[in-house]
Amino acid sequence: MKAKVVLAVLLAGSMALAAAAQQPPPPAPGAAPAPPAGPRRGGGLPPPEPAEHVTGNIYKIFGGGGNTLVVVQKDGVVLVDTKMPGNGPYIVEQVKKITDKPVKLIINTHSHPDHVGSNDYLREQYPNVRIVMNEGAKQELSGPRGNPKLLPTETFTDHMTIGSGADRIELYHTGRGHTNGDTFVYFPSARLLCMGDVMAWNMAPFLPAGGAEAIAEETAAIVKLMKGKVDLVEEGHGHMNTWAGLVRLAKFDRALVDAAKKHYDAGDPPGMAVDDLKKNPDFAPLLDTHIKKGLEYGNTPLARANMNVNVAYLEFAGEPVGFGVANGAPLKATAKHRGSDPKDTAPPTPEMLANEVAK
Ligand SMILES: [Zn+2]
Ligand SMILES: [Zn+2]
Repeated sequence: MKAKVVLAVLLAGSMALAAAAQQPPPPAPGAAPAPPAGPRRGGGLPPPEPAEHVTGNIYKIFGGGGNTLVVVQKDGVVLVDTKMPGNGPYIVEQVKKITDKPVKLIINTHSHPDHVGSNDYLREQYPNVRIVMNEGAKQELSGPRGNPKLLPTETFTDHMTIGSGADRIELYHTGRGHTNGDTFVYFPSARLLCMGDVMAWNMAPFLPAGGAEAIAEETAAIVKLMKGKVDLVEEGHGHMNTWAGLVRLAKFDRALVDAAKKHYDAGDPPGMAVDDLKKNPDFAPLLDTHIKKGLEYGNTPLARANMNVNVAYLEFAGEPVGFGVANGAPLKATAKHRGSDPKDTAPPTPEMLANEVAK
C-alpha cells in the first residue's frame, strides 16, 4: 500500500514537472508572439544570448531557459544550470570563446527542464563531468518518464562544499519552495550567490511546489545564512541582481503572506492584499506592470504577486497547493474565501507586450 502511494506521488511529480517546464503557466493561445525561429530555440523560451562578463572569472548566458553561469576555475569550468534541451551546443560554443578548459562540474539549481535540459549533451561532450544537485531534485527527475542522462553523479541534502581556496563553492538547501530540491550556489571568492527560480525576473517566485509560506521561509533562511557575504545575486532568469535586491524580495515574500492572511481572515478578495503591498514604495519593482525582457510568454510582476496571494489563500483554506489554478487562473470564491478578480491574473495584453521593458 505504502509503495503504491509513493509511486502515485512520483508519477504526479513527473507530470507536474513536464507542465512546469516553463516558469509561469503558458498564456492563452494567441497572447504571446511566436517564438523565434532557428536551431537554438529554448523550447518556446527566448533563445540564448552571447555570454556576458559578470565579474572576475564569471560569465552568464541569458535565455534558452534559465540563466547559465559560467565560472572558469584553475582546472576547468563550472556551469550552474544547462537551460532547455537543445541548448548544449550553444553553451559549449560560448564556453570555448571564453576558455580552452573543459567543463568539469555542472550544478543544477533545481529539476525543472529549463535548468537541467542540456545535462545530457554536456555529459556526452565531457564524459568525466561531475553533475551535482539536491537529493530532492534527483528524485523529481527520477520518475518513470525521466531521462536518466539528466541525472546527477552525486547529490547533497542540506549543505555541500566543493573545492577550496579561490575555487571553493558552497551549496545550500534551506527547504521546499519553488521545488522540493532547490539549491542555492555560493561562490565566496566572488561574493556571488545563485538563487535558481526562488528569485527570477525580479518578481515574486513561481510556486509550483512549495507554496507562499514555504518560499517565504526558504528565502528568509538563505538571507540569514548569507548576510554580509554576498554582493552579486544571479537570478534563475533575467538580469543580475544585488544583495539589496534579494533582501527586498525576501521582505516582499513575507509581507505577501502576512497581507494575504490579514485579508483572508477578513473575508476580503485577494486583490486587497496586493493593494497593501503597493503601499510600500520599496516593493514597486516587484509590482511592475510591464512584461520583462525574455518573459514575453509570461506575465507581469503585478500579476505574479496576485497569483501568489491566491496560492496563499488556498494554503489558509487547507486546500492543496501545487501547479494549478492559483498559479494562473483566478481564484474561485468558496464558502471559506472570496475569489480574485479575473483581470488581476489575466494573460498579458498586446499593449503590455508592446511596452515590454528593456532592462
Ligand atoms: Zn526556470
Ligand atoms: Zn523552475
